[in-house]
Amino acid sequence: MRAGHGRMRWGASTITASLAGGISQWQDQHLSQPSIVAPMNLSYILHAIACAVPDRPAITAYNGSLTYAQLDAQVFAIAGALLERHNLTQGDRVGIAMTNCAEFFPCLFAAWRAGLTAVPINAKLHPREISWILENCSASLCIMSPDIAASVSEAPDAFWPEIISTDGAEYQGLLKGEPAANRPGEPGDPAWLFYTSGTTGRPKGAVLSHRSLLFATHAYYADIDAIGPEDTMVHAAPLSHGAGLYGVGHVLKGANNVIYKGFETGQILESFSSYRNVSIFAAPTMVTRLLNDPRCGNCDTSGLRTIAYGGAPMYVSDLKDGIAKLGQHFYQLYGQGESPMTISGLDKFLHADTNNPRYEERLGSVGLPRTGVAFRVVDAHGAELPPGEIGEIVTKSDCIMSGYWENPEANAAAIRDGWLWTGDMGAVDEDGFLTLKDRSKDMIISGGTNIYPREIEEVLLTHSGILECAVIGAPHADWGEEVVAFVVQQEGAAALDAPELDQLCLDNIARFKRPKRYEFVDSLPKNNYGKILKTELRERDAGNQAAGA
Ligand code: AMP
Repeated sequence: MRAGHGRMRWGASTITASLAGGISQWQDQHLSQPSIVAPMNLSYILHAIACAVPDRPAITAYNGSLTYAQLDAQVFAIAGALLERHNLTQGDRVGIAMTNCAEFFPCLFAAWRAGLTAVPINAKLHPREISWILENCSASLCIMSPDIAASVSEAPDAFWPEIISTDGAEYQGLLKGEPAANRPGEPGDPAWLFYTSGTTGRPKGAVLSHRSLLFATHAYYADIDAIGPEDTMVHAAPLSHGAGLYGVGHVLKGANNVIYKGFETGQILESFSSYRNVSIFAAPTMVTRLLNDPRCGNCDTSGLRTIAYGGAPMYVSDLKDGIAKLGQHFYQLYGQGESPMTISGLDKFLHADTNNPRYEERLGSVGLPRTGVAFRVVDAHGAELPPGEIGEIVTKSDCIMSGYWENPEANAAAIRDGWLWTGDMGAVDEDGFLTLKDRSKDMIISGGTNIYPREIEEVLLTHSGILECAVIGAPHADWGEEVVAFVVQQEGAAALDAPELDQLCLDNIARFKRPKRYEFVDSLPKNNYGKILKTELRERDAGNQAAGA
């Protein structure tokens, strides 16, 4: 695409911008009509920032880089081609199944500019799982990175819509599309079908509107960091999930989005000095990997701004290790696909508030409500519980999903009177801090008493010889369930034994909570987002017990 230099109008102002040839003329005709601009359509916010900072880097990836003007021009072109050449119409679903790459954001924003619904899909899924998602939402088309496109042949009999691989002529054709005409749009239009990670059963497609994503983005600016063109977001986690969601907020403010193919610790540590004002989203298992890199703690972190972590429990001992090695840059978020990344958060200043008598407790919590978000801890009937009592967490805000894609049964259970039932158990303290206890399905009931695995995991992880652990409930004839701990030993540490770990638990938690069995394993099963699959552990354990009986 030829770079040109054109003038375009945004409302009353006239701005000069470098854009691909031909597009500026079109913009002169169309974007001078503010009445047809949909203010909540995220792609038009991108257009506004592209007008302001056309030459700033928008995407810096291993396979290509784009300035904001180039990104905006690609978005116009791809959107036009999807509508005109591929005959998609407003509301159609477009799959985006890509290993992290330079093409992700152009395609995401193009879907929005065309009035379509994007369906980002985790690249690590099996082709059959990708096909299942595409079929579930009856996607008309899917844009894939070459590796995913090649894997389609592994499931020839599965459902596949039209597929466009980013290394093929078809994709080049998208980039040459006639710029899409400006489209009307409503804030409630579906923007992103967010398929849950499916730790139990089939994933469900949470429908996230433009309003919901904009709310999450504003909450990021309010609670985590204000963003500007001098900032950098390093994307090493899958863009189909949290990293992509946070990327939206960085694109809308003109920041540089540095995209890595995967989570390579050396590369990430280097980015903390080679870029300015670096923010990164990482699941706790990724943070732990970073901390276990011997270079961590000795590297230059002068460019590091924020490590936003969440999506699974971050154990207090790991967090303290992180603060010691990388400094006070941590922000914890608690959210879920159904309320994208935005229910509660533990601010950076609370990570640094070491003199507070409740400091440790707070580090183990998921913090306070995000700006504009309400949450409550309720009993099974929805009645609010007093501080200290454990119940299910429900939340209400403009962030929550419109519902699951074509799944009225799941919707009725998940959204009641406007409150989203998260399936997470937790309790608030007198200061309003929320502590997660576990997913309701991971809670152990032994002898009629509720036991929350996280509490035991926190204690075990204080042992320097333990790298990772997961506690589950196993069926027990007398007690209903008994507590079992799966433990992965730290490489090079002295061999662990059960009596030593038992003593550690006896020293820290009530007797009845301590594991009755320890299983020493090489690794823990995790899904593609790095979450430990307790369902699989329970099944594995049941199999082993049956085989041994
Ligand atoms: P997902 O929809 O895949 O993002 O998963 C959301 C789930 O991850 C939540 O319902 C919680 O069970 C868990 N989760 C999210 N954030 C946290 C956090 N900060 N600490 C512990 N668990 C979390």
